[in-house]
Amino acid sequence: MRVFFIGFGQAGGKIVDMFIEQDKKMPTQSFRGIAVNTARTDLMGIKNIELKDRLLIGQTVVKGHGVGTDNVTGARVTADEIDSIINAIDSRGTHDIDAFVIVSGLGGGTGSGGTPVLARHLKRIYREPVYAIGILPAPEEGRLYSYNAARSLSTLVNEADNTFLFDNSAWKNEGESVKDAYNRLNDEIVRRFGVLFRAGEVGAGGVGEMVVDSSEIINTLRGGGISSVGYAISERINPRTKQKQGFLGSFMKKKEKAEDVLLTGEDKSAKIIALVRRAMLGRLTLPCDYSSAERALVLLAGPPQEMDRKGVEKSKSWVEENIAGVEVRGGDYPVSSDYIAAVVLLATIENAPRITDLLEIAKATKEDVIRAKDKRSSMFDEGIEPLFE
Ligand code: GDP
Repeated sequence: MRVFFIGFGQAGGKIVDMFIEQDKKMPTQSFRGIAVNTARTDLMGIKNIELKDRLLIGQTVVKGHGVGTDNVTGARVTADEIDSIINAIDSRGTHDIDAFVIVSGLGGGTGSGGTPVLARHLKRIYREPVYAIGILPAPEEGRLYSYNAARSLSTLVNEADNTFLFDNSAWKNEGESVKDAYNRLNDEIVRRFGVLFRAGEVGAGGVGEMVVDSSEIINTLRGGGISSVGYAISERINPRTKQKQGFLGSFMKKKEKAEDVLLTGEDKSAKIIALVRRAMLGRLTLPCDYSSAERALVLLAGPPQEMDRKGVEKSKSWVEENIAGVEVRGGDYPVSSDYIAAVVLLATIENAPRITDLLEIAKATKEDVIRAKDKRSSMFDEGIEPLFE
């Protein structure tokens, strides 16, 4: 799939920068992207998105210093400058893309407020679907972040064609601060969505037997709402040959490279089913009740000789038995690698306790946030006359 990424705000800009970095290492390029922000320093920190594709908005309002976790200002500034954002997108070229993906942290200000506004305008202007990858704040980041995220997400689900969620709190380690975990979390995001979004493009592995086309990803996401992604990677397939990094290998952690196995013919199908089960039952980008998903897509990325039609078909049936709906698509994405990766996209999820919690926190916080905005010191209220009113 050919994707046009828009990184909105700090988190969005960093993550899109990583998608572009990943794409540059591929034999053919499928991704392009721009970064939009109200904070000049965040845009300066980006490395792989060209300078001309980094757009500073809201200069007259916040003078390049960011909106300071105020997503209402983020939304307003985006609406005011929507023409220059659309111009930046157009000048990068959109005629050959399959989808737009806006990436942002939903708990902050710029991306949180700007993403739903941009999604609405993109949908009005272009025929291609508009998706979002939204990052949920950890509760420990404070109630304001949860409130912002709940408000942004409630708006976004009605504007984007589908919203993928990644939950920072589910992915950070016990005792680790969210900030310390950013790099690792961003790796996880780019690894999963990189494989999913690149499906259907011709990889270094040649043409697959049951290739997943972009239209199958788009149809899986058609129901809207929120989606979550599972991922698992096999042990090394062919330990006797010299290790080649390849597409999937470049995202491996050192630990994962240690275990080596050799796949024989009969094993292939069983291995694929086990991998898909591990992807769906393991940690999802948004922990949720997978049995409440309406649609799913099963994607196997790996060397063509390790793909197995029976294995893919059986895994699709297994996924179908376990989700609410009956639409399960799937296939392979041939890449040159010593590993096989399984991606399970669970689309249009009805039940995610994390979202219920987030909305509860937000409802309980609403009054406090409104009060805090108008609150000023009462120390000087009485007694001494001011010089003038
Ligand atoms: P903005 O610049 O005003 O849009 O705000 P941010 O992008 O900093 O959004 C704040 C939210 O995003 C908070 O919940 C942060 O924890 C989260 N966040 C910021 N940077 C990163 C990052 O690099 N990775 C991840 N996973 N989350 C981030």
